[in-house]
Amino acid sequence: MGIINSSKTDPNKILPITYPWAREYYKSGIANNWVPEEVSMQKDVEQWKSRDVLSDTERRLILWNLGFFSTAESLTANNIVLAVYNHITNPESRQYLLRQGFEEAIHTDTFIYCCDTLGLDPDEIFNMYKTIPSIDEKDTFVVELTKSVFDPAFVTDGKENIQRFVRDLIGFYVIMEGIFFYAGFAMMLALKRRGKMIGIGEQFEFIMRDESLHLAFGCDLINTIKTENPEIWDQAFRDEILELVSQSVALEKRYAYDACPEGLLGINPDKFALYVDHVADRRLERLGLPKIFGVDNPFPWMSQATDLSKEKNFFETRVTEYQTGGALTWD
Ligand code: MN
Ligand code: FE
Repeated sequence: MGIINSSKTDPNKILPITYPWAREYYKSGIANNWVPEEVSMQKDVEQWKSRDVLSDTERRLILWNLGFFSTAESLTANNIVLAVYNHITNPESRQYLLRQGFEEAIHTDTFIYCCDTLGLDPDEIFNMYKTIPSIDEKDTFVVELTKSVFDPAFVTDGKENIQRFVRDLIGFYVIMEGIFFYAGFAMMLALKRRGKMIGIGEQFEFIMRDESLHLAFGCDLINTIKTENPEIWDQAFRDEILELVSQSVALEKRYAYDACPEGLLGINPDKFALYVDHVADRRLERLGLPKIFGVDNPFPWMSQATDLSKEKNFFETRVTEYQTGGALTWD
């Protein structure tokens, strides 16, 4: 038995369940169901078209984040379907992977919806992962990191191959969804707290709530593989992961300064960088690795936003209650 390399696992037989936590993530995902059209964009359209609501700094930040997320969601979906699903044959984990894949499709749809409603040039937004160096660097970093796993001949047998696979999981779940998404989340939610682009802000809150589950599932998956294959987690591999995380933090900070060079009213750009340090430490903790930065959370309101239940949003948009069941909390 094992979550990888288990010749005894029949992917078609979900009962009896071996990993109840995987099933719980599936149920939490279902409880959080939403689609972008449920969020009104009317006020955002007015603010976007008006000449005196948004500063140039704010417009840049919005465009950069739409540009980054519009393609990052597809990259993540591709990794799940083309790499992770292949090697995780455990049926309850696959059930969650299918749910996660669908959520990534909803997230991609959110950026189609945003482009449509705001009248943005889709070519510009969906090409920013090639044209904006600080976005290109982040995407290239995870794609390079996970390249070997996409080889059709790749198998997860033996220490080195398992390490390769875990490196892929860390690349997408911890670095892409867990670090590279968070400066953008903080920026868009900071903007919403100032009453600007609250529709997009709410979409980002929904996405962040989904991502916090993706991240938590990914960490449980990685930790299960570690427990079942303890030989992979040697000092050299732990050092390698720490190095990758610190490189990704540097890229995320570069992105944050590029997207928001002058900061936002009341938030200087260094604070976004500090938030990236804080987030990276939380991810390392979750993997059982030592913290690198040891900084306090500069945005305590971000943890509250992750644990979002929609009723507290009623005064900003409309009364909605999407939360139909329990959700896991994860910052
Ligand atoms: Mn996503
Ligand atoms: Fe995700």
